[in-house]
Amino acid sequence: MDDVDFDELVASLTLREENTALKSYQNTVSVVCPACDDPFDDLVVCKENPTSLNISRQLDLCVGNVDDKTVIFTHKR
Ligand SMILES: [Zn+2]
Repeated sequence: MDDVDFDELVASLTLREENTALKSYQNTVSVVCPACDDPFDDLVVCKENPTSLNISRQLDLCVGNVDDKTVIFTHKR
């Protein structure tokens, strides 16, 4: 994933939550996941290494790396 594409991708999303560990965005416009080409539900950018995610639902995850940050694309099952 190159940085320009990622910036464009994030610009289409809605910021939903930010804390010291992570930033999460909601995909309200059905942007496709760069990993699997299906629209994802949320994008999570991990700001700390390591970071814990508290996921309460069953999700399929696609993972990438941008500027040494891990980014996670979630897909609801
Ligand atoms: Zn995906």
